[in-house]
Amino acid sequence: MPIEKFFAPETIDGALDVLDEYGSDALILAGGTMVMPLVNEALTSPRVILSLQRAGLNTMSANGQIEIGATTTLTRVSQMNKLSLLANATRGIGSWAIRNMATLGGNVFAPPPSGDAAVALLALDAQIVAQNKNGERRVALDSFYSGLLQTNLRPNELVTRIVIPKTRGKTAWIKYARREANAPAIVSVAARIVTDPEGVITEARIALGGANDFPVRAKKGEAELIGRGLSAESIADAANAAMDEAKPFSDALASEWYRKKMVAVYVKRVLEGIK
Ligand SMILES: Cc1cc2nc3c(=O)[nH]c(=O)nc-3n(C[C@H](O)[C@H](O)[C@H](O)COP(=O)(O)OP(=O)(O)OC[C@H]3O[C@@H](n4cnc5c(N)ncnc54)[C@H](O)[C@@H]3O)c2cc1C
Repeated sequence: MPIEKFFAPETIDGALDVLDEYGSDALILAGGTMVMPLVNEALTSPRVILSLQRAGLNTMSANGQIEIGATTTLTRVSQMNKLSLLANATRGIGSWAIRNMATLGGNVFAPPPSGDAAVALLALDAQIVAQNKNGERRVALDSFYSGLLQTNLRPNELVTRIVIPKTRGKTAWIKYARREANAPAIVSVAARIVTDPEGVITEARIALGGANDFPVRAKKGEAELIGRGLSAESIADAANAAMDEAKPFSDALASEWYRKKMVAVYVKRVLEGIK
């Protein structure tokens, strides 16, 4: 089926108008690194394409919290000194060519084991701003996903911004892949740990990639840390709990069994990096 209409609106309202008219018939094109290969290979044949490239979503602002427009490129995000966890995670995505085109908003929709930036965003308690013609709502990234390639975004909504609260505590990121660059994760782990002056953990975030159908928090692993110091024992307990709750998958990179084991190994390493 030929593409009948290609829209590249110059405002968010213009983009929302297109979405209001065509709903899920419109294929959304942000950086295009995921969808263009599908179009080129005729694996998807959209009648209507909505490009977000000119819609004014390539923005960044910091005012206590940090707000990043959905079409901000991963290269730009990787250069954010104020958000080292997200910048580190983003730096390891694909190659320069991919990062120069791919967007932060698009990464939130990337199926596992992609979605490295989304894993870091989870550990940072990020919120998704979903907007339609009637207004916007904020959804915690933690409750955004509902299944493989499924989110709570409604057909007439766009992700316009990602809001990241001021980072509290220490953070660390680790991506285990077959090689250093341009390789999808076997597993990835982002962690953020807040302690009181005595070193007792008051807040813990452990976010995992490659460990479920979408980026997830290892909440049982996090719970193992609360009220304790970051010691060899608490780290081992958190790593084992994270492994037990992980529900990974098998693909050409790794088996489900191996991924589960690697969750424990890399949660341990990431927490040791914070210690
Ligand atoms: C060679 C290669 C290597 C890669 N390596 C990695 C890697 O190491 N790690 C990793 O995490 N990913 C990787 N990826 C996956 C992917 O390219 C990135 O995750 C990228 O961030 C996707 O963003 P995009 O802007 O290109 O998305 P697009 O392809 O433009 O969009 C994909 C889909 O996401 C949805 N979408 C995008 N933006 C919005 C929005 N604002 N509102 C609503 N829906 C939206 C739409 O459904 C859209 O069709 C790789 C891809 C390639 C081709």
